[in-house]
Amino acid sequence: MENYKVYPLFDITIERGEGNYVYDNAGEKYLDMYGGHAVISIGHSHPTYVKNISEQVAKIGFYSNSVQIPQQEELAKKLGEMSGYEDYSLFLCNSGAEANENALKLASFHNGRRKILAFKNGFHGRTSLAVAATDNPKIQAAVNFTDNIQLFELGDLEGVRDALAAQDVACVIIEGIQGIGGINDPGTDFLEGLEKACRETETILILDEVQSGYGRTGKFFAHQYADIKPDIITIAKGMGNGFPVGGVIISPKFQASFGQLGTTFGGNHLACAAGLSVLDSIREENLIENSQQMGEYILSQLQDIKAIKGLRGKGLLLGLEFEEPVKELRGELLKKYKIFTGAATDPKVLRLLPPMTIGKEEADIFINALKELL
Ligand code: PLP
Repeated sequence: MENYKVYPLFDITIERGEGNYVYDNAGEKYLDMYGGHAVISIGHSHPTYVKNISEQVAKIGFYSNSVQIPQQEELAKKLGEMSGYEDYSLFLCNSGAEANENALKLASFHNGRRKILAFKNGFHGRTSLAVAATDNPKIQAAVNFTDNIQLFELGDLEGVRDALAAQDVACVIIEGIQGIGGINDPGTDFLEGLEKACRETETILILDEVQSGYGRTGKFFAHQYADIKPDIITIAKGMGNGFPVGGVIISPKFQASFGQLGTTFGGNHLACAAGLSVLDSIREENLIENSQQMGEYILSQLQDIKAIKGLRGKGLLLGLEFEEPVKELRGELLKKYKIFTGAATDPKVLRLLPPMTIGKEEADIFINALKELL
């Protein structure tokens, strides 16, 4: 059997990771300014993370959700404290797509409506919603769940208000900051207006923080720059630092019942060990503050580079907009300087999502390489 080829690949085999760096099978060292799609929050193979997961798997890696797993409670408690959502509950699952599917279902169960409102250039994983949010014609043609999905321009509050007025939209889903679409920040005014419009029409507001959450933007959640409290928040990526963990953070207005949601692997012993290690390291190493400071430092250093037309994002979720597509530039950064960076669906945007552990040294390596190339 062969693997089903859906990913274009670099001709590089990564064998090992340590902190902010990864190493290939020839021993070559690469600076990771991409964090494997914003997944690496506390650094590659963090010693506490490795120790906790190894100790856990030696005891038990998995049983099932039919027995008590106290680590799930510990994870929910810590996450509540650190994120400021202590009165919400946590449903554990395995990926961002799964978190969003469950969020959409919860919204529809709650108000009995079926329509979904989302935003152009948004991305919510390979859910039925992805069909509307992608402009990949192959994906759009293959499945057509789009009848109930309406897309708006990010920032079009009036359009959204009009669409919600009929009170037949189940939920609005929006990223804290759009990631793969090119690092587009909805802004605090828009988020606050959106929350108000949702509240007035009993529409559920879902904040997809799968990429922008877990401290990366300098606050626990990107939407916390605004004065809002969504009904549902979805998380994944940085939550497990590479171990597949996702979650749905649910307002107390929702009533859980047995069988309402479920998943085989969600919240297993190993996932909890990973999730707890990540939260502990974020707290002990002040990684949220570090993300904010390093983000500001990088932005300040890039300000005067003429070739950069726009700088977007917050903390360590940054987009550098160029006049030309960045494919070649990313290739040079990788080939010549051994630096991984990210792309976006907007070909002119270079995306930075490094581990939240990077320091000035790593930031300078990237900045100097970029300056030399430009
Ligand atoms: N939501 C956002 C904002 C994402 O960026 C992604 C993945 O890139 C997802 C959801 C889907 O997450 P996963 O790939 O874990 O299903």
